[in-house]
Amino acid sequence: MNIILFGPPGAGKGTQAKHLVKKLNGFQISTGDILREEIKKDTEIGKKIINNMNEGKFVSDEIVNTLLKFHVFDPKKREKLIFDGYPRSINQAKYLDTLLKNSNQKIDLIFFLNVNKETIIKRIEKRKIMEERSDDDLDTILKRYDKYIDTTKPVLDYYSKNSNFNEIDGSMEIAQITSKIDDFINV
Ligand code: AMP
Repeated sequence: MNIILFGPPGAGKGTQAKHLVKKLNGFQISTGDILREEIKKDTEIGKKIINNMNEGKFVSDEIVNTLLKFHVFDPKKREKLIFDGYPRSINQAKYLDTLLKNSNQKIDLIFFLNVNKETIIKRIEKRKIMEERSDDDLDTILKRYDKYIDTTKPVLDYYSKNSNFNEIDGSMEIAQITSKIDDFINV
């Protein structure tokens, strides 16, 4: 079972991804984490992306897709992939379709965690204190949200036609969201 968690920054994708990893014995594929790791290790890619990430801009599809490929084709991580923060553009969505098709896999469930801007601002300000993320200041949050609306919304339209697409109210408490997600998994 492969799952996409979709929604604006601060929607709770990471939290629910961690729950799904435990529940399904699966693997979280968070492109945000993968990119932050490149910066931490100070790799060539890390040097290229640090400014974009700190400014709340997207990293290029080319870089993200290349990094993603290694994770999707990692022989240790098969068939229970929980995508968190990917895809974020139509180009990435199409790339993922092709990658999965080439390894005889598919997306089984898509969860759209829908949350309004005000709730996100409150949550990210809290997360900034807890996780010390350099891209979590208010200005950057607003940029990331606007970027999400501009670029990621078309991906939503792309997926919302699928029968495995499910919209969940992401402003609910964590446990309530988890329970809604579990209802789809436990069938
Ligand atoms: P996240 O941890 O998912 O909130 O992502 C943090 C930042 O990493 C984003 O604001 C982007 O700069 C970058 N990023 C993460 N995933 C992607 C992606 N799929 N495409 C482009 N940039 C991404």
